Amino acid sequence: MSGNGNLMNFVGGQWQRSSSSQYIDLVNPATAQTLTAVPLSPAAEVDAAVQAAAKAFPDWRMTPVGDRIQPLFKFRALLEEHLDEIARTITNESGKIYAESVGEMRRGIENVEVACGAPVLMQGINNEDIARGIDEHMFRQPLGVVVAITPFNFPGMIPLWFLPYALATGNCFILKPSEKVSMTSQLLFRLLEQSGFPPGVVQLVNGGKETVDALLDHPTVKAVSFVGSTPVAQYVYSRATANGKRAQCQGGAKNPVVIMPDADMETTARIMGDSAFGCAGQRCLAASVAITVGEARNTFNELMADVATSRRVGYGLDEGIQMGPVITQESKARIEGLIAKGTQEGANVLVDGRDRSVNGYDDGYWLFPTILDNVNPGGEIAKTEIFGPVLSLMNAKNVDEAIEMVNNRAFGNMACIFTTSGAVARKFRYAADAGNVGINIGVAAPMAYFPFSGWNASFFGDLHAQAHHGVEFYTQTKVVVERWPQEWSRQF
Ligand code: NAD
Repeated sequence: MSGNGNLMNFVGGQWQRSSSSQYIDLVNPATAQTLTAVPLSPAAEVDAAVQAAAKAFPDWRMTPVGDRIQPLFKFRALLEEHLDEIARTITNESGKIYAESVGEMRRGIENVEVACGAPVLMQGINNEDIARGIDEHMFRQPLGVVVAITPFNFPGMIPLWFLPYALATGNCFILKPSEKVSMTSQLLFRLLEQSGFPPGVVQLVNGGKETVDALLDHPTVKAVSFVGSTPVAQYVYSRATANGKRAQCQGGAKNPVVIMPDADMETTARIMGDSAFGCAGQRCLAASVAITVGEARNTFNELMADVATSRRVGYGLDEGIQMGPVITQESKARIEGLIAKGTQEGANVLVDGRDRSVNGYDDGYWLFPTILDNVNPGGEIAKTEIFGPVLSLMNAKNVDEAIEMVNNRAFGNMACIFTTSGAVARKFRYAADAGNVGINIGVAAPMAYFPFSGWNASFFGDLHAQAHHGVEFYTQTKVVVERWPQEWSRQF
């Protein structure tokens, strides 16, 4: 594993120190202490990883699918065994609380489990006698060398949205994790190393933009999976596809939630607190706008303010803490700038989480839960991704106006409604312009056996991450039409 406090790449079955002269510090956002340094691996190191993967591919592809999933079973068991260590590492490098770190690993492990179904999931289809004596089959074959580029907010789970499916379907896989949270990948790869994958089948290359560009331009890389902000998702999608690669790029979000007057307000406010302020609002499925309908405003806003002010903020490994810091000082400054922008656009700060600190952690990047009321639906703050613990409140006359407000934005990751009316819920489900919809749910995160269905500016591509979509993304179909006339064969 890594030595001298610096992180290493895992290439061709070996841990390797990057030759880069450029390292960036990886900092614990709760303490502002530097934990290690991340190498910005140059193009030559990307090339070495791609070559090692390409070399491993023919044999891995020919390995029967039932054998290919055996190391994944082992990996799953090792993830369970090392869950505590991994979760602590996630908390230390990303700031989220321990329970959230365990939760994200549970979702990651679930993807490993689903990918172990590859012998069934990647089955083809066939018909006998498409014409007299002629049969047609469709096989799924792996692509070759595939890569994933992942964001800071789920250091353990998001790599596992891709890695298990790519490997189980017979591809060789390279991960480029976020340079802000690269320690978790070192642990995942230490476990992958013990799981029994042949050298070159699964590899880790640390780095930043230059590393990503080298992957996007490498002619041997066949497919790119990306998760991150929308501008980078769009860039990665354009560059990868211009280079003839398959790409699935998940971007940012701005998730609206409609609160109907008939909703159970206390439950709704509690769930909304977890959605808006869980992971310090740094989830692509965080509720970021609450649209109350009619008189729902009167009770909901007050309850929501209580939920926000009572949330215990601090270092995620300390007892009883419900919310950690935001990821960097820059992120904190950016979010504070957006709160100020909201007030310039006419919003009132109902709960102000700025200028707060946590005892014993004076240097952490703290921003407490914040609520902006009367947010201007046409303003910037109503449409821009904040990616922090800030909930914007708006009001609509009726459900139709609320749905219009929900759909009046570029993103389409998630939209939710809280109501006790089945008819209203159905209307919303049908009309919401988003790929993940929640009904009386605050974070409508699809289980590993459903696709993670972002739409619009939240996704570039067609096949999403997870489940059947993952299997389809990492395989290409081959259709075979065959004829074997009796008269050509030796008669027995
Ligand atoms: P980011 O876009 O800054 O970085 C994501 C990855 O891209 C990192 O590995 C980074 O090294 C790389 N990268 C950054 N800038 C690049 C550039 N100019 N060229 C090439 N590569 C570059 O995202 P982040 O801040 O790490 O993550 C937060 C964002 O991710 C939010 O917008 C959030 O909504 C989004 N996200 C989306 C989903 C989803 O499923 N849609 C899930 C999680 C996070």
